[in-house]
Amino acid sequence: MTSDRIPFIDLRPGEDDAAVRAAIDRVITRGWFVLGPEVEAFEAEFASASGAAHAVGVGTGTDAIALMLRAMNVNRGDEVIVPALTAAYTALAVLLAGATPVFADIDPERLTLDPDACEAAVTSRTVAIVPVHLYGQSADMRALQSIAQRRSLAMIEDCCQAHLATCDGIPVGTGGTGGAFSFYPTKNLAALGDGGAILTNDASLAERLRRLRNGGQIDRYVHLEAGDNSRLDDLQAAVLRARLPLLSGWTNRRRSLAAAYRRALPDNVRPLREHDTGHVYHLFVVRSPDRDALQAHLRTSGIDTLIHYPVPLHSQPAFTGIARGDCPVAARMARQILSLPLHPRLTDADVARVSAAIGAFQKGRILA
Ligand SMILES: *Cc1c(COP(=O)(O)O)cnc(C)c1O
Repeated sequence: MTSDRIPFIDLRPGEDDAAVRAAIDRVITRGWFVLGPEVEAFEAEFASASGAAHAVGVGTGTDAIALMLRAMNVNRGDEVIVPALTAAYTALAVLLAGATPVFADIDPERLTLDPDACEAAVTSRTVAIVPVHLYGQSADMRALQSIAQRRSLAMIEDCCQAHLATCDGIPVGTGGTGGAFSFYPTKNLAALGDGGAILTNDASLAERLRRLRNGGQIDRYVHLEAGDNSRLDDLQAAVLRARLPLLSGWTNRRRSLAAAYRRALPDNVRPLREHDTGHVYHLFVVRSPDRDALQAHLRTSGIDTLIHYPVPLHSQPAFTGIARGDCPVAARMARQILSLPLHPRLTDADVARVSAAIGAFQKGRILA
C-alpha cells in the first residue's frame, strides 16, 4: 500500500497544461489585459456551453451575485433569502449590494434551500431568493420558482459550485433572473486566480450588468450610474477558454468517481443522495455521526478532507445582529458532513483507499 497522501484537491494544470500556457502567452503578446477580446470570446463560449443567451464576465462569484442584486435596484432594508448552509460569500454578496440577507433552513436530504422554510421567510420587504446549487446539485428549483412567481420575487441562482449542472434538464442559471458563477481556483471551471460570470437570458439585464461591472460607464469616461469595479481580466478569460472544452469530460470523470465512491463506501457513512442526474459533483459529501473522529482518523491515514461548511451562516459572527431565528437542520448537518477528496485526476485506486480507510474507522470503533 502506498504511503502517499491523498490531497483534497490538486490545482496544478494537468492535461490542460500546454493549452493554459499557450493562452497566457497569447495574452502577453497581444498586450490587452482587461475586458479585451479574450473576455468577449469567453463570454460567448461560456454562454453557449451553459445554454444561456448571455454571459457577463466579472471579478468574482461574490460580485456576480451582488451585481445582479444591484441590477434589480435593491434598496437598503430590502430582504434577500439565502440558505443557512453555504459559503458565507452568498450572504456577503447580499450585504455588498446594500440589502439584508435572511437565512432560511435547508432540506435535510438535499442540503439546499428548503422551499417551505423559504416561503415562511418571505415578508413584505423580500425582493429576491438566492438558492445555492450546493456541492454541484441543484436546489429544488420547481418548488422555489413557484414561490418566486407567486410572490413576485427575483430568482438569482448561486451556481458557483454548479458549472454545467442542470435541474430537471434545465441548465442552472437560466430558469430565473440569472445565475452567478465563480472561477475561483478550486471550482469545477477554474481560473488561475479570481474570476466570475453571470448567465442570463435577459438582454437588457446583460447590458445593465456590463455597465455596472465597469464603473457604470456607457462611453469612455462617461459614467451613467455609480457602478462597481469588477471586471474579468484577459489572462483569466484566456485560461478559462483553454479549459472550457475539457469541462464536460472532467464533469463526467467527477460523476464516475462519485459512482465509484457510492459502490465502495462502507455503511458507516451516508453519502448525500443524488436527486438529479444533472449533478456535477463539485464535492462528494458524506454524513457521519462521528464526523470529527472520522476526519481525524482519515488525516492519520494520509487522506485530506474538508467540511463544507462547519458553521452555518446564522451562527457566523459576521452576521450577528442580522440572523433571525434558528436553522436547526443546517446546524445538525454542519456537525455531520464531510467532503471526501474528489477532482478529475483522482484515481479509482484513491477512491478504493479512501473507502477502505473509512471501513477501518468502523472496525476500529467496534473493537474499541
Ligand atoms: C465560491 C463560492 C462563492 C464565492 O465565489 P468567489 O468567486 O470566491 O467570490 C459563492 N457561493 C458559493 C456557493 C461558492 O461556492
